[in-house]
Amino acid sequence: MLEVKNVTKRYGKNVACDNVSFTLEPGTLTVLLGPNGAGKSTIIKSIIGFLKYDGSITVNGMVNKSVEARKILGYIPEMPSLYPTLTVTEHMEFIARAYKLTDYKDRVNMLLERFELDDKRKKFGDELSKGMQQKLNLCLGLLPDPEIILLDEPLLGLDPHAIKELKNYIEEMRQAGKTMLISTHIIDSVDMLWDRTIIMQKGQIRANVTRSEVDGSGRSLEDLFFEVTEGIDKSSVSEAGENE
Ligand code: ADP
Repeated sequence: MLEVKNVTKRYGKNVACDNVSFTLEPGTLTVLLGPNGAGKSTIIKSIIGFLKYDGSITVNGMVNKSVEARKILGYIPEMPSLYPTLTVTEHMEFIARAYKLTDYKDRVNMLLERFELDDKRKKFGDELSKGMQQKLNLCLGLLPDPEIILLDEPLLGLDPHAIKELKNYIEEMRQAGKTMLISTHIIDSVDMLWDRTIIMQKGQIRANVTRSEVDGSGRSLEDLFFEVTEGIDKSSVSEAGENE
């Protein structure tokens, strides 16, 4: 279980995350939804231990920055940071060594095949197109197969095949009992099987709802999103329109 408690992150006077608290239950998929600048990346980078912040973040009861917690946490950043002079294969080897993985070759092959990088194994980081870099970024993040995975805007820059493959992969990870947090600013991309959605805006959590709560309300996630971020109740607007 991952617990974020009262996390506040300031950049100078700008409060990027304002007293944010939520929990990721084991084996659940949580979507972190919010417009650009809402604070999604900031909270994810705080969880992974890249930023200093006020508040507390624990992973299975351990401080997120501890060595034990880091072994459980995986992170797929929004922006790939590849090494221009390493090949695709060398990038994968690098991660395998960094995480002290054993028997990882089959997993490397599986990931490179699924994300269509199989024939790009000898290409250097700076020879890859933007989309290929995104796909390698995904493969690198998925290789260690961590228990909790944080994906920051993972669908950005991917082609339709990779989007489909990633959604399938996410569903497989969900069925395998992984805990996932997936950030996005695109409501339409939230068509995967999610358990909970947290809506953020201006550094604050505006809603934290389970799928059954949304389904039971008779409204769509989109209705809820606009209601909490813009104060617009879209369902009542359309109902009023229909009655006229
Ligand atoms: P999101 O991921 O939802 O688009 P971010 O977490 O990237 O939002 O940004 C939240 C706020 O923090 C924004 O106002 C952004 O401008 C600011 N911010 C993010 N990173 C930095 C930084 N390194 N320095 C200063 N301000 C930042």
